[in-house]
Amino acid sequence: MPDPMKVIETHWNSTPVPIDAIIRDIGLPLSYEPMADNISGYIERTDGSYRIVVNSLHPETRQRFTAAHELGHYIYHRDLLGDGVGDNRAYRTEGTNRPNANIRPIHERQANSFAANVLMPRHRLTDVTDESTAALAVRFNVSQQAMAIRLGRAG
Ligand SMILES: [Zn+2]
Repeated sequence: MPDPMKVIETHWNSTPVPIDAIIRDIGLPLSYEPMADNISGYIERTDGSYRIVVNSLHPETRQRFTAAHELGHYIYHRDLLGDGVGDNRAYRTEGTNRPNANIRPIHERQANSFAANVLMPRHRLTDVTDESTAALAVRFNVSQQAMAIRLGRAG
């Protein structure tokens, strides 16, 4: 499998950052399936590797964040994943049908930070003080909330 960070670099100057292409270029199957509204998605083991599945019923901005979050679990927590881990709406394993006691809140925060870094690259967000959070969120195809947090504009 290619180095995930090198794959990300090759896509990092596209707008919005193409998270689907990144995951597929890394070599992980990615699919979208309807799930209960309280579930964001999951990553699960398949034949010695992993696949990522995202709730197709959620808004596209949330689907993108979920896909990036699951990729973060793959990159940083592969040794803890076992058969996989599910994520509820709050990106916690509680309430999912893929619980994983190895994945703790600190790991969820790491996966969320990774997702924000990938989808809203810091080097693309310099000199944006004159631009609205809403406009930047549209450009990067992320939620306004995620962009506000990224820019330190969240109330
Ligand atoms: Zn998670």
